[in-house]
Amino acid sequence: MKSSDIRQSFLDFFVGKSHTIVRSAPVIPADDPTLLFTNAGMNQFKDVFLAKGTRPYSRAADTQKCIRASGKHNDLEDVGRDTYHHTFFEMLGNWSFGDYYKEEAITWAWELLTVVWKLPEERLYATVYHDDDESFRIWEEKTSIRPDHILRFGDKDNFWEMGETGPCGPCSEIHIDLTPDGSGRALVNADDPQAIELWNLVFIQYDRQVDGRLEPLPQRHVDTGMGFERVCAVMQGKSSNYDTDVFRPLFDTITELTGVEYGASMHDPQDIAMRVIADHARTLSFALSDGAMPSNEGRGYVLRRILRRALRYAKDLGYNKPILHRLVATVADSMGDVFPELRDRQDAVARIVKAEEESFLVTLDRGIEIFNGLVGKVRGEGSSTLEGEDAFKLYDTYGFPFDLTRLMASSAGLQVDGEGFERCMQEQKTRARQDRREKQRGGAEEGSWEWFSDLHATEFTGYDGLEADASI
Ligand code: ATP
Ligand code: MG
Ligand code: MG
Ligand code: MG
Repeated sequence: MKSSDIRQSFLDFFVGKSHTIVRSAPVIPADDPTLLFTNAGMNQFKDVFLAKGTRPYSRAADTQKCIRASGKHNDLEDVGRDTYHHTFFEMLGNWSFGDYYKEEAITWAWELLTVVWKLPEERLYATVYHDDDESFRIWEEKTSIRPDHILRFGDKDNFWEMGETGPCGPCSEIHIDLTPDGSGRALVNADDPQAIELWNLVFIQYDRQVDGRLEPLPQRHVDTGMGFERVCAVMQGKSSNYDTDVFRPLFDTITELTGVEYGASMHDPQDIAMRVIADHARTLSFALSDGAMPSNEGRGYVLRRILRRALRYAKDLGYNKPILHRLVATVADSMGDVFPELRDRQDAVARIVKAEEESFLVTLDRGIEIFNGLVGKVRGEGSSTLEGEDAFKLYDTYGFPFDLTRLMASSAGLQVDGEGFERCMQEQKTRARQDRREKQRGGAEEGSWEWFSDLHATEFTGYDGLEADASI
């Protein structure tokens, strides 16, 4: 089954259960200061769950564009390393707003997977929240799942929250055992490529408050999310999302440009690089098509970091020129039917990406040279930690985001002193503030510092902030 047919059959199935098909919301949340990027299908319905908004339907389904590269759900560091976490992915979802509840959500998910898509029942596992006996019983009595394939887990895996605050609740998930001999039971929720989480059925009941309290909601809702690329891999008999037709066009373009073929092996550095580049090209294309811009802070800085990370990986393919802007067209061609905004904004997005790439490539080679010298120095001193001051120099002079330096250091078996880095950053900020004050007093032209800072560095929002993002 082609990926486009899989997407359509999901939507058709839920139309058959009286759901209204809605459009994906943009990846840039319209009105939610708690979120840099849309990270789940339910984001656009947050107001309904919180009883602050209504919709003219009580059942909905869609495919939602999601980015998980910041905040509570951040998979940036998995990209390249594994084959089933992307920074951009589609989440297929169905919702009930105070309408049906656990029984329908569970039995319909089971019907779609095993009757419509004919996935082998004996390979599927259901997880439930540790005290959710009701869901356990529904799985046991209303589906044909093997009773010993219903497993209980705690807060980390079976209580879903979109962020630090907001709608949340216990969930029941469906995982698939991909081991050759069906021995994957112990691998469920162990972050193992041989037992993959496919679908999460969340039973929204609470609103998490700033102080951590769970406030019960007036109504109970269903919110489900299934990883589209994962389900494509399973349906197409592939062990990696990247081996599906979703990613094929991107790899073809990368091969055309670099001459490197994909598929040597999971840990091959060039395969890793190709996965990163393909993933990041999608993220940039979708985010910029929805109006985001690379910049020095917040959301824009996440995107800038993603772009710079991809360019560093392109080096592993022996490619030294802007590459991502060439993939913008591939993303638009292969996905523009489903997401027309990609085509509408294609030229502008490619131009922005190219300019960003060109500006970073000016300093990348020299930065890598400096970095290699630093690695030699650190090793020579018998240390395993790159000093914060050095990481700051790479950042300030060569535009290396802290996470890029940390990534490169970790491939060289080194750590980076994050606190030292933050100290340098704070010092620079203080200096800049003083300079500005002095210049203002002396009547110097305002803005010159701004220009300097923009050219060389980025507005730093605190090491803690980056840590919380877990993407550095
Ligand atoms: P995982 O445990 O694999 O990281 P999750 O529990 O964080 O997934 P959910 O928040 O439950 O994921 O999201 C619903 C579904 O979206 C998951 O069951 C999975 O199929 C898919 N999904 C989640 N994160 C990603 C990602 N980074 N890339 C691709 N698909 C994803
Ligand atoms: Mg996750
Ligand atoms: Mg999970
Ligand atoms: Mg989950």
